[in-house]
Amino acid sequence: MEKLVSLCKRRGFMFQSSEIYGGINGFWDYGPLGVELKRNIKDAWWRDMVTGHDDLTQLPGAPGSYEMTGLDCTIIMHPQVWKCSGHYDLFHDYMVDCRESKRRYRHDQIQGRWVEAKGKKIFATAGSDSEAPEADLERQALKFFGMRSKNADELKWDGPLASLTTVDDFELVLGPDAKTLGTLTAPREFNLMFKTTIGALGGEADSAFLRPETAQGIFVNFKNVVDSSRVRVPFGIAQVGKSFRNEITPRNFTFRSREFEQMEIEFFCHPDSSAEWYTYWRDRRFKWYLDLGLDEGKLQLRDHDQDELSHYSRGTADVEYAFPFLPEGEFGELEGIAHRGDFDLRSHMEGKLDPATNPLTVELNEDGKPRHRGSGKDLSYRDDLTGERFIPHVIEPSAGADRATLAFLCEAYTEDEAPDDKGKMQSRVVMKLHPRIAPIKAAIFPLVKKDGMPEMAQDLYRTLKKDWNVFYDEKGAVGRRYRRQDEAGTPFCVTVDGDSIQDNTVTIRHRDTLEQWRVKADDLTDELRKLIG
Ligand code: ATP
Repeated sequence: MEKLVSLCKRRGFMFQSSEIYGGINGFWDYGPLGVELKRNIKDAWWRDMVTGHDDLTQLPGAPGSYEMTGLDCTIIMHPQVWKCSGHYDLFHDYMVDCRESKRRYRHDQIQGRWVEAKGKKIFATAGSDSEAPEADLERQALKFFGMRSKNADELKWDGPLASLTTVDDFELVLGPDAKTLGTLTAPREFNLMFKTTIGALGGEADSAFLRPETAQGIFVNFKNVVDSSRVRVPFGIAQVGKSFRNEITPRNFTFRSREFEQMEIEFFCHPDSSAEWYTYWRDRRFKWYLDLGLDEGKLQLRDHDQDELSHYSRGTADVEYAFPFLPEGEFGELEGIAHRGDFDLRSHMEGKLDPATNPLTVELNEDGKPRHRGSGKDLSYRDDLTGERFIPHVIEPSAGADRATLAFLCEAYTEDEAPDDKGKMQSRVVMKLHPRIAPIKAAIFPLVKKDGMPEMAQDLYRTLKKDWNVFYDEKGAVGRRYRRQDEAGTPFCVTVDGDSIQDNTVTIRHRDTLEQWRVKADDLTDELRKLIG
């Protein structure tokens, strides 16, 4: 992982935000190569899910044909949106503060073990950033009890590693960075939404939130889309955009950031076929990552257990990837696909529903009034062919553009060997990105800077530029130029040499197989189109 992080910075995939001021935790910038990569991933998603979708055909695994359309909503929305969606009440984590170290931790992310020595039993802990919690716990316990490491076997451990959530008496807890017992505060709620103020006056009535997901913009525009376009249920609305969560422990590079981008679909269907649509979307979205090059051995589709589901949901599954920063055998979420029933549309109609009720009813306050009032607008749908009126069920495939980018980068990073200019094998770093998402599709080199080669190469560069992001490079030995493109993930290099001037052919070199072959210069665009797909 360190090698990938350093390559990302060195080659301009990713930088820490505001780095010259020491950076800001949980925020990342995409450099010249990174911005192209992420844009290509979002474009591939939009093309595959929306603009390239065939409304007329029943796709494999789908219960029928369906339509897809898009939206682009604002980041700041009416505060009532977040009250009815449940984010205002529920979107929080529990935090504990350490009075001694002044550090703040997520309650459920502190891990520890009960340990006894010198007649005293304590709960020793390690923070979520600990890479070897067992070793850290031992060090911490030895220090606390004033013992040397050679006496480590005098520590009596009781039970396996467990979350702090299993402990009631905080007086017996030794905080991850504390020297004394009982320095952690009781868990307190911490809302993950960033708050902001609208207008100049700045009272509580003017406060609003930066959206923590793009989905709600789709629900509140459901009626607008139905009324203004000719879509019929079943159909999906897609949106790509920034979301913000004040994550307590941003970490693992861009995996958990405070500002990130989501690619979300809300798919509206008849309640009777929603279970089949859920299965379709779950499998379709899993396959998308495989098609773009993630290794099947590192990707899994994990169905949530029945007890993890809300009763109104017929299923939720996560597409997960074995990121290299995770311990062996662990996976991180790339995308969640959820069957959400009619929870969202009804909450925005009637008022925030109580997810614990069955059938769902509006949550009431102490006065017996809705806790958060809905819009009162009718968000039901009338099928003009059958005359039936119903509230559609929703299937939600919700993906993160940054996590997808990170997974593709992790997958692509490869070290192998390639011959240098003298034919001697040398180790190389190559980013084996799928040609569809590679930042640069092809690099064009004149072998040497004379005899008409630069002119011919520049002509080809200008021709290819009309279709793709291509790169012209005439500096240094050709082997060095190949290496630079290998690190950038450029799938094809095109070289113009002495023969090219004679017979109007060029050499294409394949990044992964290192295979080289000649094609007519006039056929280059067609040849690359076949290769890039
Ligand atoms: P997690 O459990 O990892 O916090 P989540 O279940 O809260 O994720 P969702 O609310 O389902 O995530 O959001 C959908 C997608 O948005 C996730 O699958 C992920 O790809 C992306 N995402 C969510 N939170 C973050 C974050 N803090 N940084 C980067 N991407 C994120």
